[in-house]
Order: sequence, then C-alpha cells, then structure tokens
Amino acid sequence: MESVNNIIVDEERPLKIYFIPYLASGHLIPQADITRLFASRGHHVTVLTTPSNAQLFLKSNPYLHRNYRVQIFPFPADQVGLPAGIENLTGIKTFDDSLKLHSGASLLQEPFTNFIEQDPPDCIVGDFLYPWLHDLAIKLRIPRFAFNGFCLFTICAMESLRLHRMEPTGPYLVPDLPGKITMNTAPPKFAKDFIENLLDTEAKSDGILVNNFIELDGEEYVEYYEKITGHKAWHVGPACLVRRTTEEKAVRGTEKSVLNVEDCLSWLDSKRVNSVVYVSFGTICQFPDSQLYEIACGLEASGCEFIWVVPEKKGKESESEAEKEKWLPKGFEERNKTKGMVIRGWAPQVLILGHVAVGGILTHCGWNSTSEAVSVGVPMITWPLHSDQFYNEKLICEVRGIGVEIGVDEWSNDGYGEKEKVVGRLEIEKGVRRVMDGGDEAEGIRRRVEEFKKKAREAVQEGGSSYNNLTSLIHEIRRLIRHKRLKLHKFE
Ligand code: UDP
Repeated sequence: MESVNNIIVDEERPLKIYFIPYLASGHLIPQADITRLFASRGHHVTVLTTPSNAQLFLKSNPYLHRNYRVQIFPFPADQVGLPAGIENLTGIKTFDDSLKLHSGASLLQEPFTNFIEQDPPDCIVGDFLYPWLHDLAIKLRIPRFAFNGFCLFTICAMESLRLHRMEPTGPYLVPDLPGKITMNTAPPKFAKDFIENLLDTEAKSDGILVNNFIELDGEEYVEYYEKITGHKAWHVGPACLVRRTTEEKAVRGTEKSVLNVEDCLSWLDSKRVNSVVYVSFGTICQFPDSQLYEIACGLEASGCEFIWVVPEKKGKESESEAEKEKWLPKGFEERNKTKGMVIRGWAPQVLILGHVAVGGILTHCGWNSTSEAVSVGVPMITWPLHSDQFYNEKLICEVRGIGVEIGVDEWSNDGYGEKEKVVGRLEIEKGVRRVMDGGDEAEGIRRRVEEFKKKAREAVQEGGSSYNNLTSLIHEIRRLIRHKRLKLHKFE
C-alpha cells in the first residue's frame, strides 16, 4: 500500500475497468477477447453494450459472475428506423441502414454516460468510434485508453498521411515510414477524413490498445508511432489466443453458426493437411452476384478443396434455384459435393482456421481475420476492400512475406456491394494456386507464417512481449490514477 499526499493507492487492489466497444462484430470480437485478458489477471471488467451484442461477452465466459459483468442497454432501434434486434453492422445490408446504426450508436451516449457517472470506474477502454468518451474521462479524471481494431503498422501509415496533410489520389509512397511502403491505391477523401478525425481524438487518450504482437508489427513501428504522435501503443495480442476450448472458439460472434460445428470439423478431418482453402470476407462485405459467380468459378478452376463463407442475403430465408444460379454456376454444388462446402451465413472461423486441413485463407485482410490466420500459421491470399485493409495487405505480403496479393487496386467504397468492377476468375484461381500448390513460393510463405505463429504464441505466454505489455499497462493505469487524483487533490 502506498500513500501519496494522504491518498492511499493499493497496488494490489483489482482495477475496475469499463469497456465500451462499438456495435460492429469486427470491434466487438477483439474487445471481447481483450476483456478476458484483463479478467484473467483478476481485474473487474464491465462491458457496456446492447442486448444482442451482449451474447458475445456472455457466452462461454469463464470469468462471468466472478469478476466480469455485462451491463445491457436497450438499442434505440425504433428511434432510428431499424427492425428490433438489428444492433450490429453485421446484420446491416445497405449503406443507408449502416447510417441508421451509427445514429443508434450515438444515441447510446446518454445512457452510457449516466451509468458511468453514477458509478465511475478506475479506467475506461473505449472504442475510437465513440470520441465523446474523451470529455467524459476528463470530467471524471479517469484514464482512458482507446481501441480502433487496426494493427500499428496501419495506424502508422494513416498517421503519416494525417501529419503530412497528404491527399493522395493515386499510387503514393507513404512518407517517412521505417520501411519504403508504396500504396497502389489511395483512400477516398470521405474515408480518409472520417478516420483522421477519429485518430485526432484517439491521440488525446492515455494510450491505445493494439490487438497484435510487437514482433509482427515490428519494433521500428512502435518507435515510429511514439516519435510522431508522442502517444503510447500497448500491444496485447493476438487476443484470440485467450480462447482455449473448442466451445470458447465456437461462440465468437453474435450470430449462431449456421452449421453444426462437429459436422464441419469432421468434414475437415477427412481432408489432407493444408489441402483446404478457407474463403471469407468478414462481417460487412456484401458482394454482388456477379462477383460471387467469379469466386465460384475461380475456386472450381483452382481444383482446390474449399470452405467458402457467403453472408446471407437480407430477408431471404430460402433461395429459389433461379436466384441461386445468379451467383452459383449451374451444378456447382453437385460437382463439388465432396470437394467443397459453401456456408451461407455465419461460420466458426477460428475453429476452421485452426484445423490442420486448412492451408490458406482468401481474405479481405480485416485485421481480426489476419491476426487469427497468423495465430494458427495459415498463409493468406489477399483481396482488400476498404478502410485499413490495403495497409494490412502491405504488411502481410510485402513486409512479412506471409501472403500473396490477388492484385486489387481499387477501394470498394463502403462494403455494400455497389462496386462495378469485379475481380475475375483467372486472378482468383491464380492467387489460390500460388498459395495452395506447394511450390517454392508457397513453401517460403508457409515457413514464414509458421514462424510468426510460434512468435504469436510466445508473445501471449507468461514472460512474452504481449503478456509483459499487459502487466506494464496495468502499472501505467495505476500510475495515471494516482497522477489524476493528485491533480484533483491540488485543486481542492
Ligand atoms: N467471423 C466469423 N464467422 C464468419 C465471419 C466472420 O467468426 O462467418 C469473425 C472472424 O473470425 C473475425 C471477425 O468475424 O473475428 C471479422 O473481423 P475482420 O476484422 O476480419 O473483418 P470485418 O468484419 O471487421 O471486416
């Protein structure tokens, strides 16, 4: 126990931490894992969220009813014009509805604030999509850490553009980065401005939490970030490794898996090691039928075994043959009965990726999928769509050499499928073959990703880089609490 100007600070007392994740699976899932990391160290975790998103934190949670609780707030669906139960970007199929979801999320500010003010925590970990948390934390004089779901390499590239006030319109060299990174496409202005405003408020927090391990981002990017922003980044991941049992890994989303997990695993058991390519584009992407058709043809032409996750169409309980033939070539399912599996809906991704039969992932480079693939040593075939994904692709393919590019050089504006240009079957087939055919290039990639898998596991074990970072972060939170209370004391 330490006494600072009559303020008693108990170094052993568990911290009371509130987590406030944004209402998108890509943000909720990693934060559900990060909350468990804090709970595993004995700290008191409270998650503030809405009824259907709460399931993600409640299900198969070994800390629940011990030092972990979920505070549930109704989502104002009727006020923003969304159907009841739609409270997550994953359930949203149009750009207009995504704006309604954002409005609903903004309306949560008031009930969240009331709750936090009535019973303030020692510290807040808040999503960067809730910039209003900044003023609240200042008012309550409590530390605030931010989470944006990106890896630090990508944050550095974004910060570099922000600080240099660059407005690229075509291919550009990212200024000043520790490595020479040339992007073959530029973010649209609206997307760049949106992110930069959020990064601006994020930089005023007490630090950011990163769901990655330093060895993958690179120590030089940690130094670069601290140098250019004067801000601190805490690598605590890959947080997905906190889940150890099959059940914990199976219930990672808000959606229920559309297929029986055991059936899926026993199908994979029947396949050779590294013979199956897993295809998924995350929780937001809605490809048009024409693009799905090209994927089907490309996969079939590659001759590879596959699991292909295709999000369900809104309001379509069942699909007529004629509707299906718009996106799936005639006879595709029959021809590929033993060779492939099309999952129309939510798949238990972490379990699938972790199976030895899976030898590659065709991915949109969402950071969670990337981090999950690296954690189990699965090479990537990269097809970025928007936001952080083009930078992630650079880290995967050029910097770390753990994937190959399909060759996409155009942003899909918002992930809701109105993009005209489709990626052709030949490019898809070529990308899949490069990773799955076992040639020299593929072997090199497989060897490197296997090394990063090992490093990822070491990082989260006792004494590893992410494990030690979490310990230092907890010390830092205590130091900040002391510092902020002392300042308060001086004002009194
Ligand atoms: N995911 C899943 N099953 C699915 C689709 C996605 O479990 O059918 C999970 C995936 O494992 C990852 C997250 O959803 O944890 C997607 O996050 P990512 O950052 O890769 O992409 P986003 O959805 O944010 O674009």
